[in-house]
Amino acid sequence: MRRTALKGWILSMKLFDAHMHCFPQKLAARALAGMSKTAGVPYFGDGTIETTTASMNQWGVDKGLFLHIATKPGQMHNVNNFAASIQSDRIFCFGSVHPYDEDVDQEIDRIAELGLHGLKFHFDYQGLMVDDPKMDAIYRRLSAVGLPMTLHAGWDPYSPQLVHAPVDKIARIADRYPALTIIAAHLGGMKRYEQVLHLLAGRENVYLDTAMCAQYCPRDLFLQIVQKHGAQRVIFGSDCPWDTSDREAQYISDCGFDEETQRAIFHDNLAKLLKIEEKA
Ligand SMILES: [Zn+2]
Repeated sequence: MRRTALKGWILSMKLFDAHMHCFPQKLAARALAGMSKTAGVPYFGDGTIETTTASMNQWGVDKGLFLHIATKPGQMHNVNNFAASIQSDRIFCFGSVHPYDEDVDQEIDRIAELGLHGLKFHFDYQGLMVDDPKMDAIYRRLSAVGLPMTLHAGWDPYSPQLVHAPVDKIARIADRYPALTIIAAHLGGMKRYEQVLHLLAGRENVYLDTAMCAQYCPRDLFLQIVQKHGAQRVIFGSDCPWDTSDREAQYISDCGFDEETQRAIFHDNLAKLLKIEEKA
């Protein structure tokens, strides 16, 4: 009974999912099957924007931020063109650069020109550490142009033995680049929540998305991290298609936050960060 009541509560609230993925139609099936096999994790839906949008309607998700990643040099142009092609009044995208590409600076400018809202990095897939010297020029550029970045933070099933964006290094990057807005995915460090609480939480230029917390984050740690970091810099995310938005939303709804805090986490914090004006 309680669950049903909370479901109704969620649906009365606007949801803006900060961490979603989709792929071009002709690549989606292969991409999802490949990643699912390598990482040993299941997925939901078929990874296309059409099916994902239908799922958003079903889950009561008003808007989605789709994060795209150039996993190999040479891909970033196509990745960013695809991202720009699917944007709408409810679909927002972060583009990507590959740090080993030559013309990264120009591509960051092009990302801004295309109307994309930021960049996503996944260092496990891109094959370098979050504090690799190659990243310095990129962090400086993003700080200068004012584009936020989401980075996969903490453990990842793709590279379980080597964490490419460990919590302590993310904290140091945040301190070194105070004008850089970092959205540290997975509450700042998947399966590294104790470290997030002690080493990362509380920084002004860091947002934490909640992707995958329903699967991995113990509730008491989640609450302690939100308390210390400040709910105004916590943003709801699911990591769809690796989990569903409604399941991840239920986890947050079950935390017992007051209505104002829920509205902030579920929608308003991200809308403000991306400067999205609501149509009257
Ligand atoms: Zn993700």
